Amino acid sequence: MRKVSIFGATGSIGQNTIDLIARAPDHYDVVALTGGANIAQLAADARQLHADVAVTAYEDRLSDLCDALEGSGVEAAAGAQALTEAATRPADWVMSAIVGAAGLAPGIEALKQGATLALANKETLVCAGALVLDTAKTHGARLLPVDSEHSAVFQALVGEDMSAVERIIITASGGAFRDWPVSDLAKATVEQASSHPNWDMGQRITIDSASMFNKALEVIETKEFFGLDPQRIEVLVHPESIVHALVGFRDGAVMAHMGAPDMRHAIGYALHWPHRQRLPVERLDLAAIGQLNFQKPDLARYPALRLAWDVMERGGLSGAVFNAAKERALDHFIARRIGFLDMADCVAMVLDRFDAELCLIDAPLTLDNVQQTDHLARQWADDAVHKRAG
Ligand code: NAD
Ligand code: MG
Repeated sequence: MRKVSIFGATGSIGQNTIDLIARAPDHYDVVALTGGANIAQLAADARQLHADVAVTAYEDRLSDLCDALEGSGVEAAAGAQALTEAATRPADWVMSAIVGAAGLAPGIEALKQGATLALANKETLVCAGALVLDTAKTHGARLLPVDSEHSAVFQALVGEDMSAVERIIITASGGAFRDWPVSDLAKATVEQASSHPNWDMGQRITIDSASMFNKALEVIETKEFFGLDPQRIEVLVHPESIVHALVGFRDGAVMAHMGAPDMRHAIGYALHWPHRQRLPVERLDLAAIGQLNFQKPDLARYPALRLAWDVMERGGLSGAVFNAAKERALDHFIARRIGFLDMADCVAMVLDRFDAELCLIDAPLTLDNVQQTDHLARQWADDAVHKRAG
């Protein structure tokens, strides 16, 4: 039996992971499941999978969780500290599917105990790439990508030598506003940004897909995970979301990874790696799809995308600044305090302010520094929003 834990179990990735694990209950011994405010879901899954412990991120929800787990034999815990502690419980395979920078600390703890970390939480590599990779190396832990594009690249690289890779191309559906006139984007509402043409995902990542902040994070994640020069990373808009990524080699060959847009593929690949097991995902019918289209992304439509290369050039803690400012800008957009296009402006302002006021490039990439930077970048994102509103 493999010991597994799922961080962010109640979210979209977490539920898809549970779907796969629940199909083979005899193969898995579930250690920890974590969630947020959806106590009923967390408790129901913890009961069904006989988890050792269930953790909610919210301390004030502990008594609700205890009530919901009464008589089940599942331990209950709450708060950020409890989340990190849950990651120290021995497990062979840990799914990192918390959304946002909150996923970083538990992920690092899981690596420290030598677990295989299935990484859906892209913020982990964006905020602290070198730290995370070093931690994995020191503790003999393995990182496996779960983001569909990175899983696709990882699969296209099986048996290949990184030195033969010329470029990596990740695709983007183009999100909710792909076909809107650019002049209408400033007026786009939260509801309009929250619907995705192809993928069924959490609200935050769906809005980040419409703005391409998600793709910007993924470009940085690509650089960190595969160690590629930023100039060798490209993004292609591909409305059908069938080709997830392409790897170009020095002999001109291009390996493309295709599959139906269903996250259970990438999750299942990471769960069963290095083997391939039968997965309950739709099989591709290319004749029915008929056409696959590709376009260069229009940076006027997706100003957030350009910022990825600024961040990679600045290096150091700028990934943490970028992600934290983006998370706050997104909060403000969801709260209807700023418009859709203001998010990228606000993040650019915070990055520039860090450049002007603090020299962070050479600060060592420690968890403390990342967390302090994250905290300050959130405050400065609030300042930038107030300035705009004022
Ligand atoms: P989601 O919003 O559906 O779920 C997020 C999970 O994290 C929930 O369990 C929630 O309770 C928990 N959570 C939220 N805030 C927390 C906090 N402060 N502390 C602890 N737990 C917290 O998100 P999702 O769509 O499943 O995405 C999860 C991660 O996977 C994100 O990093 C996202 O970018 C990445 N990802 C998602 C998809 C997808 O298809 N949904 C695809 C690729 C990558
Ligand atoms: Mg992705």
